[in-house]
Amino acid sequence: MREFDVTVPAPAELGLALIGVPEGSDVQLQLRLEAVVEGVLATGTADVELSGQCSRCLEEIDGEDSFEFQELFFYPGREVEEDERLIVDETVDVEEPLRSAVALELPFTPLCREDCLGLCPDCGFQLNDDPSHNHGDKVDPRWEALAGLADEIEEKH
Ligand SMILES: [Zn+2]
Ligand SMILES: [Zn+2]
Repeated sequence: MREFDVTVPAPAELGLALIGVPEGSDVQLQLRLEAVVEGVLATGTADVELSGQCSRCLEEIDGEDSFEFQELFFYPGREVEEDERLIVDETVDVEEPLRSAVALELPFTPLCREDCLGLCPDCGFQLNDDPSHNHGDKVDPRWEALAGLADEIEEKH
């Protein structure tokens, strides 16, 4: 059994559309490799930085997270299924297992906070800044024009 503790730069597009690991940021990888009958079992934990955008209010989100993965790499020469992996040139490539773990655990609709209020549907105002924001009773602009006309008529009398 061998254990590794390495820091590697994050590959591109590690994550989902709205949130992920910034390319090139530090990924702290703790990796344990165990020889088993069919190959090498890799168990890893990756501590990463996260950056993204709130799906409700579009505010930037920064954070850190930790992802775990485990993958069995078969000895070369074996017929493997599409989702199975081989040891290639005596190395195991844990990028794909890490990718799957990250994509599986990240939320599709990340939030800056649980109770994010989002944006005002009428004007795009950031409602988290002022939850009491509202536009009062809205008057259709065409009615507004008529109301103005009525005032004018009244003034003439
Ligand atoms: Zn938000
Ligand atoms: Zn508004």
